[in-house]
Amino acid sequence: MADVPAECNIKVLCRFRPLNQSEIVRGDQFIPKFQGDDTVVGRSYSFDRVFPTNTTQEQVYNTCAKQIVKDVLFGYNGTIFAYGQTSSGKTHTMEFFFQHCYLFFMTLLACCFGKLHDPHQMGIIPRIAEDIFNHIFAMDENLEFHIKVSYFEIYMDKIRDLLDVTKTNLSVHEDKNRVPYVKGCTERFVSSPDEVMDVIDEGKANRHVAVTNMNEHSSRSHSIFLINIKQEHVETEQKLCGKLYLVDLAGSEKVSKTGAAGAVLDEAKNINKSLSALGNVISALAEGTKTHVPYRDSKMTRILQDSLGGNCRTTMFICCSPSSYNDAETKSTLMFGQRAK
Ligand code: ADP
Ligand code: MG
Repeated sequence: MADVPAECNIKVLCRFRPLNQSEIVRGDQFIPKFQGDDTVVGRSYSFDRVFPTNTTQEQVYNTCAKQIVKDVLFGYNGTIFAYGQTSSGKTHTMEFFFQHCYLFFMTLLACCFGKLHDPHQMGIIPRIAEDIFNHIFAMDENLEFHIKVSYFEIYMDKIRDLLDVTKTNLSVHEDKNRVPYVKGCTERFVSSPDEVMDVIDEGKANRHVAVTNMNEHSSRSHSIFLINIKQEHVETEQKLCGKLYLVDLAGSEKVSKTGAAGAVLDEAKNINKSLSALGNVISALAEGTKTHVPYRDSKMTRILQDSLGGNCRTTMFICCSPSSYNDAETKSTLMFGQRAK
């Protein structure tokens, strides 16, 4: 395996979730075997880090996202992805604990008890939100911060604003500095971690309203949360900008060629195409020698262009099921991650 060039800032981390109740009841085997803290044995896959099933959300965050927050506050751009088949732990890693509960139930509880985010189960996004504001409060008082967030999804190659349901087909443009952005996408100024959470809750609620089966839908679309941080020194007027994309990718599972037809097959082809476009960009960047990086092959890679590779901080979570039942998918997920190394 080729060494990752020193200037390459792509980190690939592999996380296995525990066997779930139905897998245990079915009698599935626990497949992965780990070696050291970076290798899954079998056909030996090495990553920057491998997180076995008992790894806590906090350990995951501290090992791989904490530093990115600091870097973004120093003006770097970054992207954190979660890749894997449906139910492999992508949303668990990126977000919180409640995505599978029914919305009305959650709303009821929220009314009774206020905020619901269990601090131990919090995934990367809420921790990032807390960390950003903690850093800011500790920084030079002469720095003025403007933090904006956007939340959108890409489904069947269409960009849908999750903060404004009327915007269902936004397009990618470039500003005068040739920086790509989603034109017309809602931007919200936020001034506390709670406000960040509120925006996410709002986006999720909109998504629930727009589709009949939220779980199925979320596994077929890429959801992208963008945090944009601008700072300005009140005396020197010196400015610094950094942004961070947090991407929960569509499920990577293969749809059997015989079983799927019509809309389902179209969705599957579309997901496949966008995930392989992403894989091609990441592996071209990881190789480091390629002069052409195929950013223009998909909407997602176009949007992320200035936040992937180069000086940017890129982290890819490869999320895996440990069950023998999912062995084929797990192998293909590990292969995808290996291509980025
Ligand atoms: P995905 O987003 O990849 O479809 P989820 O994140 O929704 O998968 O995870 C599927 C289920 O497995 C959820 O009920 C989630 O709480 C659980 N799960 C995922 N990862 C872990 C983990 N590391 N530890 C405990 N439970 C997990
Ligand atoms: Mg999910």
